[in-house]
Amino acid sequence: MRSFAYVKAADVEEAVRAVAADPGAKFLGGGTNLVDLMREGIERPDTVVDVTGLPFDTVDELPDGGLRIGALVRNSALAADRRVRTRYPMLSQALLSGASAQLRNMATVGGNLLQRTRCPYFYDAASACNKREPGSGCDALDGFNRSCAILGVSESCIATHPSDMCVALAALDAVVEVRGVDGVRRVPLTDFHRLPGDTPEIETTLAAGELVTAVELPPLPVAANSRYRKVRDRASYAFALVSVAAALEVRDGMVTQARLALGGVAPKPWRAREAERVLQGGPADEAAFRRAAEAELAGATGRQGNAFKAGLARATIVATLRELSTGEAR
Ligand code: SF4
Repeated sequence: MRSFAYVKAADVEEAVRAVAADPGAKFLGGGTNLVDLMREGIERPDTVVDVTGLPFDTVDELPDGGLRIGALVRNSALAADRRVRTRYPMLSQALLSGASAQLRNMATVGGNLLQRTRCPYFYDAASACNKREPGSGCDALDGFNRSCAILGVSESCIATHPSDMCVALAALDAVVEVRGVDGVRRVPLTDFHRLPGDTPEIETTLAAGELVTAVELPPLPVAANSRYRKVRDRASYAFALVSVAAALEVRDGMVTQARLALGGVAPKPWRAREAERVLQGGPADEAAFRRAAEAELAGATGRQGNAFKAGLARATIVATLRELSTGEAR
């Protein structure tokens, strides 16, 4: 690892100013992804600005009945929060399905939002990777792409976003609060991450020096009947091949509310709005769940190693909705 300067930020203004003024500076939270990337030489900051002393480590009630989650809340603490487990169970389940207990004890909510892809070519300096080195090409296109995306991809990059937490946040209409030198902005989670297009190295809509300070969850009664289902190659400590975050309200056999997001299939947490549209107001039965899944995956573009994901995503959507409609998920 090459040498770098270390600054422990005393307050948020100092942290934001330090990173905005220096293109080579990075914020450091739990460090579970950044430090690995620095060891591999993928991230090479001149200065690391440690924000772990800032007062963003609580989960608080909002006046409207939602929750405000500080960006430095540890993943394990958020998963265990009684309010999250009862009001937004999909979020607790998503967090517990990610990484290991040790990593969840270190990883922060803000860092989870900003973690980088686990595409193997991104971590291999000998490979062509537009995300690591813009303009160099993409070895995943015709290489080992079993884990890669089938929705929202471009010819520049087909990497997936690795977070489980963000998939639940996308389904829950979460809003990200960010602080920059010009003040505070609020960004819907679904607009926070970018699709790759021609610039896969730009992964979020954050401006230079902006720091994630909180994530807010709106009050959402339907989320009490929600589920996060993750399909992966082994039972623990693996990234999703496909995941589904879903919430469903059924009255008299009809869907009155549906929230759905997918993980493991796209370069960003994928809100499944087409599936929601098909479900809304229709019967809560197997045929409707299949139609919704088909509609969402209609635009999938798989390659030789990952085409199986479309069928897997359809089956996982149907299974998750079936579970929610029968109350098995409670
Ligand atoms: Fe790099 Fe994206 Fe291609 Fe992977 S898929 S090699 S991250 S450009």
